[in-house]
Amino acid sequence: MTTDCLFCRMASGEIPVAKVHEDDLVFAIRDINPQAPTHVLVLPVAHIGSAAELTEADAPLLGRLFSVAAKIAQQDGLEGGWRLVSNVGPDGGQTVPHLHMHLLGGRSMHWPPG
Ligand code: 5GP
Ligand code: ZN
Repeated sequence: MTTDCLFCRMASGEIPVAKVHEDDLVFAIRDINPQAPTHVLVLPVAHIGSAAELTEADAPLLGRLFSVAAKIAQQDGLEGGWRLVSNVGPDGGQTVPHLHMHLLGGRSMHWPPG
């Protein structure tokens, strides 16, 4: 836990937030500024700065992140498809330096993203 990290403080319960999912490795919250009808952040409980820090040893965590995203997409009824994206660093548009996947759905997505 990194005490000055917003998402670590949510993971620990220090900052209360409604969790869409929570287990030993991963939790999920609805984005405060949704960019689609479904906009959920799926995050590791442990602090990892971004996808740039991941190694092969994180395979179990990544499997959990993806499977939880798929479960939430199903729960939210995103039969038509959805998008999973993780911004890395300033050029990637990352604003909170704790790894998170954005699960976006409920509308048609555009490509390329901005
Ligand atoms: P990033 O810009 O790092 O890829 O994504 C960070 C996301 O966290 C943004 O979409 C932003 O709206 C969301 N966010 C920032 N602060 C909060 C908060 O206090 N609560 C929730 N639920 N989401 C937040
Ligand atoms: Zn953190």
